[in-house]
Amino acid sequence: MLTPPKNSTQATNFEITLKHHGGKLGVTGSCHELTINNNGNNHGILIDCGLFQGKDAKDKHGNERKLDIEFPISHLKALILTHTHIDHIGRLPWLLAKGFKQPIYCTPATAELVPLMLDDGLKLQLGLNKGQRARVLELIRKQIKPIPYNQWHRIPLSSISRSLRSSSPLKTSSSYLLLRFQPAGHILGSAYVEIKLPNNDIVVFSGDLGPSNTPLLPDPISPKRADLLIIESTYGNKIHDSVETRAKRLQDIIERSLEDGGAIIIPAFSVGRTQELLFDIEHLIHHNNIDSKIPIILDSPLANKVTKQYRRFKKLWSKEAKIKLSNQRHPLNFEQCITIESHKEHMQIVNRLKSTAEPCIIVAASGMCAGGRVMNYLEALLPDKRTDIILAGYQAHGTLGRDLQNKKETVWIDNQPIDVNAQIHTMSGYSAHADQADLMKFVEGIEEGKKEVVVVHGEDNVREEFERVLETRNYMLR
Ligand SMILES: [Zn+2]
Repeated sequence: MLTPPKNSTQATNFEITLKHHGGKLGVTGSCHELTINNNGNNHGILIDCGLFQGKDAKDKHGNERKLDIEFPISHLKALILTHTHIDHIGRLPWLLAKGFKQPIYCTPATAELVPLMLDDGLKLQLGLNKGQRARVLELIRKQIKPIPYNQWHRIPLSSISRSLRSSSPLKTSSSYLLLRFQPAGHILGSAYVEIKLPNNDIVVFSGDLGPSNTPLLPDPISPKRADLLIIESTYGNKIHDSVETRAKRLQDIIERSLEDGGAIIIPAFSVGRTQELLFDIEHLIHHNNIDSKIPIILDSPLANKVTKQYRRFKKLWSKEAKIKLSNQRHPLNFEQCITIESHKEHMQIVNRLKSTAEPCIIVAASGMCAGGRVMNYLEALLPDKRTDIILAGYQAHGTLGRDLQNKKETVWIDNQPIDVNAQIHTMSGYSAHADQADLMKFVEGIEEGKKEVVVVHGEDNVREEFERVLETRNYMLR
């Protein structure tokens, strides 16, 4: 068999190239481009358009990296969004500002979440007022074309194929590609993407893959065929704590933390982690494993809105979660959960906890302690040794979350040094990412195709370790 040259695959009259505008060497800023050269014409498909975070947000001189889109876009035919984490969609406003007018494909749940997730960024990063934000979001809504899971959809590559769109059957031709989303089990609406090329080869972009056995969302199932697989490797070197034991671990930490009073702060992504935590806390309360009088404070307006979408898309929940619903349980909407909306109310609670150290559990964004309301809690409560911080998610290099995880004795918030006397706990069972075993299960579940693999979205040593594992199992890396 002829081995295709690196980064391009020859076919009869076309060739594909893979470019990474972000998210190849780091874990943030995901933005990949599949370019199809068809009879001398280049057509590009962009997969995700994410924001750089933590150390990825700085250039090699330590300056803030520019967010402007610096790669050409005139040949792009579509943007595909795998899911709504900001490191996958955060640069979308900059893409539009550059003049991108093509369709944005994603699943229906992702379509609902995109404007919610971007609104914050438009306010904080671009300083847009409410009216300006509404106009940008309206533009994005118009370009978004939701496609349900498991349905092939045609992406025309040339204007001629548009006329074929409604009448011809869904077979590949050199004038269009086929696109299909499949559940990735990462967060609500998340998908991996199958792209069928004119020669029937299938390129799969994993997006972010969820771990197996999480209680809220179903596990990802491998694609049947992949000739080229672009796979994330965030935890390509780790095996997570089992999901079965994580509620128990959470219970142990909560019990120990409450003995000396003080707040338990859980920094959490507004989408995914917050809902998983609420789900487990409801479970602990239902089984009387934690004191039902402890206030659970959900202090994140965005997380509140996202949680409503999780409740709306119950049909995408796992079997276990659906059984709870049928037993009249409300896994994401229970009595003890107090939601905080206004900034005034938020500051009142921060100040009250600072002076009283009352026991409570606070769930607030952002998940890596890089902005958001959690910052005020940390500033006020990190110096108090009765405070407990539970880091339940990935903490990128250069974030405050990573500093806390590394047990730094002093951290900087708002240019102020803050002493860390609080207890810091790390729980890996809450990861929304597949671990090495889950990733290998996904790869090895693929039955057909050339199965060449490109590993992306991992820190250098992690990516390299995962590549070695793939090589020892005879996968060809590109
Ligand atoms: Zn993600």
